[in-house]
Amino acid sequence: MEVCYQLPVLALDRAVPKHVLSRRGAISLTSSSCLFGGRSPRQLSKRRGAISYDSIDQTALYIRMLDVRLGNFRSEIRGSTSHLCVDFRSLHSGESEDHASNRKQRSKLSLQMYLQCSRSFHGTLTFRHLHLLDQVYYGQAKCMLQRVGTWNFDIFLFDRLTNGESLVCLTLELFCKYGLIELFGLDPLRLHSFLVRIQEGYRSRNPYHNSLHAADVTQAMYCYLQEPKLSESLTSWDILLALLAAATHDLEHPGVNQNFLLKNDHFLASLYQKNSVLENHHWKSALSHLRESGLLSHLPIEDRHRMEERLGSLILATDISRQNEFLSRFKAHLDRKDLNMSSPEHRQFILQMALKCADICNPCRPNSLSTCWSHCVTKEFFQQGDVERAHRHDVSPLCDRHSNSVAIIQKSFISYVVEPLFVQWARFCDTPLSHCMLGYMKQNKKYWSNAAIMRPKPKSLVRSLPLRHSNRL
Ligand SMILES: [Zn+2]
Repeated sequence: MEVCYQLPVLALDRAVPKHVLSRRGAISLTSSSCLFGGRSPRQLSKRRGAISYDSIDQTALYIRMLDVRLGNFRSEIRGSTSHLCVDFRSLHSGESEDHASNRKQRSKLSLQMYLQCSRSFHGTLTFRHLHLLDQVYYGQAKCMLQRVGTWNFDIFLFDRLTNGESLVCLTLELFCKYGLIELFGLDPLRLHSFLVRIQEGYRSRNPYHNSLHAADVTQAMYCYLQEPKLSESLTSWDILLALLAAATHDLEHPGVNQNFLLKNDHFLASLYQKNSVLENHHWKSALSHLRESGLLSHLPIEDRHRMEERLGSLILATDISRQNEFLSRFKAHLDRKDLNMSSPEHRQFILQMALKCADICNPCRPNSLSTCWSHCVTKEFFQQGDVERAHRHDVSPLCDRHSNSVAIIQKSFISYVVEPLFVQWARFCDTPLSHCMLGYMKQNKKYWSNAAIMRPKPKSLVRSLPLRHSNRL
């Protein structure tokens, strides 16, 4: 067994002190229950791990966990696609009865455990929830949440630390940060139940349009809400709506685009009269979950109706086929300098633009995160193409794995869709965050341009890319 005695031993579920984070290094970890409640120092060795931190963004770069009971050593590197394999639950089995009893006592005081247990009374109990995870596992996620407003936030790592529950954990944290539970008199259990419904409403089989993408968009939206122009003028209703819209904007996405649904006479196409089919479906799905959960049932009906309409206007704005319409309007406002954030209509428009930015901000993230997203979205494109080919249908643009590559798709997507939007957003918010996003975007554009040169463009690829991205995101 590998033990680094020279390193500080820190509780997983307690904040890492700043002096530890001031330099890049590794931290040996154990649980607070072992550290503070254990009778024997030997208990420290029952659960061991280490996290390497980067001094710039102070997020974990590298995590190691030792399963001493099984004698296994497994590791995880940030940005890798494999999942952390350590089952923390197995580490409990070696604890003494006294220690287990102490832990049980503490669990009674934990809101998280209370919420998990209460699911059984709300009809949302699933197999996954039958085995409560070690609280230590969430401790690392809690540390990450202290920096949820940073643009380098690694949502992939956060998702692994929360065992795939990043959307629930992150959104709940943001609701608490803004005090929305108290402000709107929300029932915490109903809120949690609603968020679990939302998370499970995303198809985990989709390589891209899954709950992780929703969590990423919600985190990006939070970063935009922190921008001075927004934070100084938005109301609590605006913030509530912005977070709900971000979390639900792709709810029940089928993993194929609108053209696929139209070509195959899918019932959703006729239900929404071939108009923003996916976005209408996301909105209506969000409404059904909202109403079924009863989250806002205590509010006056006029407020609920108004809120549902505004939620729809935000989600429908993410229809990428309406990109030019929104961009032209945004540009015209900026040219005239007539955006007035005290106007409810203008605030709603800015929230629409913020959600659109959050939805396609992947190329504006650091390269290590951005490339992961690029591969995910391309995988989903190609899966659709494979289905079309198997059924002898015409393969949709961008979906043919034999004539496209990640690099070619990304290079054009950044040039024609992402860059025009973020250049205008930077005009509206001339802030360090906007400059940071534009900087990363340029780096990623160069990265994919170089990659595309290394792999020549297939002759069969047609050029009209902006249209080809229709209804993708
Ligand atoms: Zn999306």
